[in-house]
Amino acid sequence: MTGPAAVRRLPPAPPVPVYASSWGRPVLAGLWLATVLVAAGFGLSGASISVLWPLGALGALLAWVGAGVRFAEIGVFARPLLCVAGTPGRLALTFDDGPHPVHTPRILELLADAGHQATFFVIGERAARYPELVRDMARRGHLVANHSLRHQPWTPALPAAMLAREWAAANRQIAELTGRFPRWMRAPVGLVSPPVAVAAQRCGLQLVHWSATARDGVAWADRERCWQRLRPGLSAGAIVVLHDGVGGETCAAVDLLPAVLGELKARGLHSVTLDALLGPPVPQ
Ligand SMILES: [Zn+2]
Repeated sequence: MTGPAAVRRLPPAPPVPVYASSWGRPVLAGLWLATVLVAAGFGLSGASISVLWPLGALGALLAWVGAGVRFAEIGVFARPLLCVAGTPGRLALTFDDGPHPVHTPRILELLADAGHQATFFVIGERAARYPELVRDMARRGHLVANHSLRHQPWTPALPAAMLAREWAAANRQIAELTGRFPRWMRAPVGLVSPPVAVAAQRCGLQLVHWSATARDGVAWADRERCWQRLRPGLSAGAIVVLHDGVGGETCAAVDLLPAVLGELKARGLHSVTLDALLGPPVPQ
């Protein structure tokens, strides 16, 4: 039998969060152990180079730790969210390092004109300086998330207790301004270490990384290069990072955003907040 009565609509599959690899830790630990064993073998085979094997082991350990801190996506010290599968037509634009008194209002306008929503990872100290901008983000339906209190680049080396204290203060500040306690945390520069993972957990925050970046977080970022890097990553389920808090008169994110929004339109993609990306699909 055919016809409308026979048509059954299957409920849409729920989105699937994709986290950093679970293989990073055992693979790098294995590589380290192999390096130690090889270095030890060399050390035992000749007294003249015996001093090299502990140095080799130490060097390999530092490389292992450095790789884990620098490349959060290999999941050595934590498994942050990278993207979300099963979200046809949707992705999440995210903006780091704001609010900025000039660039953030421009980005809010561009998003509003195109009808998109985003997640803003704000720095606590800047949120305190420009509270009205954070309120405005929330009023416009964007999500405000935690990007630390002071954005120190050496964050991975700081003790968990200190990070937790600072991030809890940033959480309270965001909650006071938006009426909502943040759920998401992006570590400064995306660097993840054991103290970063512990502090996020103590503050009730989930770590999020990205799947597409323009690497626009520096004042000298070249717009064309940023665009070439970012463009291939604009796909369904992507978590895209741009930076609205870069100092100076120009901001690559502001320059790039019209092209990004044009590309989203051409690809039939819509930016939603991280919560919405993970939520049930919106019926069309
Ligand atoms: Zn940042």
